[in-house]
Amino acid sequence: MITTDVLIIGAGPVGLFSVFELGLLGLRAHVVEAMPAVGGQCVELYPDKPIYDIPALPVCGARELVERLTQQIQPFAPVFHTGETVVRVAREADGRFVAETSGGLRFGAGAIVVAAGLGAFAPRKLALPEAAALEGASVHYKVADAALFDGREIVVAGGGDSALDWAIELADRAHVVLVHRSSKFRAAPASVAKMHALCAEQRMQFLEGDIVGLDADGTALNAVRVQTRGGLVRRVEASQLLVLWGLHPSLGPIASWGLGLDKSQVLVDTARFATNVPGIFAVGDINTYPGKRKLILSGFHEAALAAFAIKEYLNPGEKVHLQYTTTSPALQRRLGVVVAPDEIDAAA
Ligand code: FAD
Repeated sequence: MITTDVLIIGAGPVGLFSVFELGLLGLRAHVVEAMPAVGGQCVELYPDKPIYDIPALPVCGARELVERLTQQIQPFAPVFHTGETVVRVAREADGRFVAETSGGLRFGAGAIVVAAGLGAFAPRKLALPEAAALEGASVHYKVADAALFDGREIVVAGGGDSALDWAIELADRAHVVLVHRSSKFRAAPASVAKMHALCAEQRMQFLEGDIVGLDADGTALNAVRVQTRGGLVRRVEASQLLVLWGLHPSLGPIASWGLGLDKSQVLVDTARFATNVPGIFAVGDINTYPGKRKLILSGFHEAALAAFAIKEYLNPGEKVHLQYTTTSPALQRRLGVVVAPDEIDAAA
């Protein structure tokens, strides 16, 4: 069991800034993030786009913003657990929380900050009833081990960067048929050109259409049925199907934690950003309240007020005073920008 003052669920910009606000108040945080990297929507959805409405930064790339936030929270040494989805949160008899992740990590925390944005990003899956039983064996939504496809007949589904990158990569080691519902692609033009060149050299094939069925024996895939634009259904022999249709956010397990919800968003008050469950707070895009605007700067404000509320929640009866980073030696010590006099004495 990993013990921490506060567990932050989600490492988007607001989860990251929560580390900072909690750290200023002397609270340590562990951060769990479902994606392999921190950054939330900024990194997953628009890493190279410029943002123009972050105070005091006239323009800042989305990935750059995440890098700046990550740098800003370094003094508080947050511990990140990426590629882990928090699936269960329960309160123990002593009032503390136990949270469990998809990978089996267990956290004990005094308070929880849900900074889960639009929810955990999950792959868009085939909406065919026969697909679920094949998942992991012959139907895949990510490439865990490319060697699995060596020498096989494989259908790659999708028209974005990841589908084309993998179709091109696998064309050298497998028989690849790329299936996409349109002849227009979202992938980089260079990848689209490369794919067409490989098709012209008969090193891979492209089929425009929709996947409408899978033929399988048990978990072994035999063929993918594709309905082409003309309405004909073609049977494409394949032992593996790699579906790369991108990611979509899903509230997922959060819906079962007993939190008050309004249209898949967590209801909070605007003084503390507390949910209906004492000790669980919600900040950023995941929450809702009258006047809510899903902006990064709103989330930063919410993170600050939630941190004060959490400090008071964890230390009942103790008054939490506002201090300025410009003038407070205590805050500056936590930030590591001044050395305490006793540390100077000790070093002498
Ligand atoms: P998110 O960024 O969504 O991060 C939440 C994280 O939580 C995700 O990484 C998710 O994987 C993780 N998570 C969810 N559930 C779990 C779980 N159970 N366990 C573990 N991890 C979990 N805002 C602006 O202010 N200015 C802009 O110019 C702007 N431009 C935008 C452009 C685009 C194209 C988009 C899509 C959004 C834009 N936004 C902009 C909105 C802004 O990105 C969001 O307001 C912001 O990302 C919200 O941050 P967050 O930390 O609350 O959530």
